[in-house]
Amino acid sequence: MYSIVRTAIVQGIKSIPVFVEADMSDGLPVFEMVGFLSAEVKEAKERVRTALRNTGYRLPAKRITINFMPANVKKNGSGFDLPIALSILGAMDIIEKEKLKELFVIGEVGLNGEIRPVHGILPMLAEAEEAGIHTCIVPYENATEAELVKQMRIYAVHSIKETIDVINGKRYQRKPKEQKPLTEEKQPDFSEINGQHVLKRACETAVSGMHNLLMLGPPGAGKTMAAMRIPTILPPLDEKEQMELSKIYSVSGLFSNREQLIDKRPFRSPHHTVTPQGLAGGGSIPRPGEISLAHKGVLFLDELPEFKKDTLEILRQPMEEKAVRLVRMNGDYEYPADFMLVAAMNPCKCGYFPDMQKCRCSSGTLERYINRISQPLLDRIDICVATSQIPFEELTEKREEETSEKIRERVMAVHERMRYRFRNESFCYNSQIPGSKIGEYCSLHLKQEAYMEKMYEKLNLTARSYHKILKVARTLADMDGSEDILQRHLTEAVCYRNIDKKLWGREV
Ligand SMILES: [Zn+2]
Repeated sequence: MYSIVRTAIVQGIKSIPVFVEADMSDGLPVFEMVGFLSAEVKEAKERVRTALRNTGYRLPAKRITINFMPANVKKNGSGFDLPIALSILGAMDIIEKEKLKELFVIGEVGLNGEIRPVHGILPMLAEAEEAGIHTCIVPYENATEAELVKQMRIYAVHSIKETIDVINGKRYQRKPKEQKPLTEEKQPDFSEINGQHVLKRACETAVSGMHNLLMLGPPGAGKTMAAMRIPTILPPLDEKEQMELSKIYSVSGLFSNREQLIDKRPFRSPHHTVTPQGLAGGGSIPRPGEISLAHKGVLFLDELPEFKKDTLEILRQPMEEKAVRLVRMNGDYEYPADFMLVAAMNPCKCGYFPDMQKCRCSSGTLERYINRISQPLLDRIDICVATSQIPFEELTEKREEETSEKIRERVMAVHERMRYRFRNESFCYNSQIPGSKIGEYCSLHLKQEAYMEKMYEKLNLTARSYHKILKVARTLADMDGSEDILQRHLTEAVCYRNIDKKLWGREV
């Protein structure tokens, strides 16, 4: 007496198919499960036995063996409960094995036979669908998420009892959806920020060239307000990106009954007390961190100097590779993490520098404050903009401000330009031009070259910051629709150069 059912396990945001087979034979009554199982999967044995008994089915006094395939993938999580229960019921001939074979099944069961939701439904069903499975059984609470996989016939069940009825062809009735009142969430918009044109211009420049951005300014200068609105000027997500992002939220358990894929670029703003694991992802059963939840959107680090250095240094590799890789005994996990970094900080500890009338910081305090920021992180920031508190006139002035939609149109035109320019390259944005290709893509006329030479000495630039200025100038020229980098682009790019410890306190 044998039966088999298909289920899956999620690693990173990838779903790996797993087959659960049950065999029942005469012999000493034992119940064993094999196939590289974690402790929690082993515990499923008792849960399933009790749940079946409470549904009205006692395990026969036989030798019952449950095997999980493939054997080389470690099985963890509680989603195997329902597949185990069904494979046993199949082997007992209580449900039709032939039908069972064609299903995808996932779900945790409670001792009373109730079925509970699991994480990662979206990637699992998407994979099953690609593999040619057309019908699935999922926990009722995961139904809305499951329905996003369009070609799949979904049975959303509350209990083992109901599952048996569904498979044996008895009536299945999906409860009508509760009609939620349609409340369109109001999205933040750049038009809500009065004035602050320097700050807005820096945001647009950053998004245009996909440069990481640092905002310096006293509290109340609108740094957070601006950062929150950056996702609204990034191009809309395409369907593939929406699916990828939704999968990340699905495996994080953050999908919570959405009726559509995530179609807005995320904005994540972890507190400075965040742990390295919270930021990058991890844990014994790995989960995506903040940087993956910010995938295709904005990771905002407010009060940058307050973050621990080693927490920030963990960002180095993911920022390079646009993904986080976690190596675990039971396999490698990879979470996408292609985000734009936006950071903000006060210019000094008291917040008033360079206003020497108000700033109470000594030069030692200033230096210590800046030294707290991780240098490798600063190295990845191309644009630094100083903001000030909004002057009263600007605040009270009534005028039409540009909408995010309008700014986004310009941004998309610049992206189009870069896509064409870099069509034969492995990168697509100005911020990604490697050092070896700066000469090719950011060439200057003689006069501008002389100017940059002068700046190099005057500002005591490093080769790295020199390159950054050129890349930002390239973006400014693109925003201008100009193939040549002109003087005004360089002048503006020089203003955006990153904070430099040596310069701090002397010049802003
Ligand atoms: Zn100060």
